[in-house]
Amino acid sequence: MPAKEILELIDNTKRYLMQQQDLFGNILYTDKDRAEKTQSKEEILQFSNEPWANVNSLDEFEKNIDTCVKCPLGHTRLNFVFGVGSPKAEVMFVGEAPGADEDAQGEPFVGRAGQLLNKILAAVNLKREEVYICNILKCRPPNNRDPEPIEMESCTPHLYKQIEIIKPKFIICLGRIAGQWLLQTNESLTALRGKIHDFHGTKLIVTYHPAALLRNPNWKYPTWEDMKMFRKAYDEVKAQ
Ligand code: SF4
Repeated sequence: MPAKEILELIDNTKRYLMQQQDLFGNILYTDKDRAEKTQSKEEILQFSNEPWANVNSLDEFEKNIDTCVKCPLGHTRLNFVFGVGSPKAEVMFVGEAPGADEDAQGEPFVGRAGQLLNKILAAVNLKREEVYICNILKCRPPNNRDPEPIEMESCTPHLYKQIEIIKPKFIICLGRIAGQWLLQTNESLTALRGKIHDFHGTKLIVTYHPAALLRNPNWKYPTWEDMKMFRKAYDEVKAQ
């Protein structure tokens, strides 16, 4: 095996072991054990033992977790990317994880994808400052790879706490991964789009991630359809 591949293998093994240690301590679980260790939805939601369980402001919550190293991404990030926007937002946008620009600036959805999200917001008469924007993961996965399930399990309580504090009327998931994770389903993005789901009493819509729209402009029209559906439902809620 070439030396470069051996070094990569060692690096990946080291990351995996650090991740296991952060999550499970000094016991190395086998695959079978790990399957049994996979958290149920209820366990993911359970954060009553966390020191921040009773905080009730976003600022205070951020101070509690901005040095988090619960998963290995805490060791490789440049910046912790908590979220941005109004603590009283009625609409919350949730992506999967920070990318390179977000990691560099410590703010979600900046760069080209962020500019496109701002345009999508403007198209439905919303301003970035009046919504809340964040990701499931608060730290960037290296090389923009997809988040590992175990990283999402580690970070999801942070997102749930943000939702608990903000109490949005609508959650809009940007992309398949965020939609599948929050709805705990393997359904395709095509199947998840175009309808309003229930997320523990909050209306949830799934649409394309702005980065995907930059790669494939043909998806802009279906995204516009999703956002029109959202705006209609949002206006109906506001009129009640
Ligand atoms: S991704 Fe989430 S769980 Fe992992 S280190 Fe960052 S804040 Fe902690």
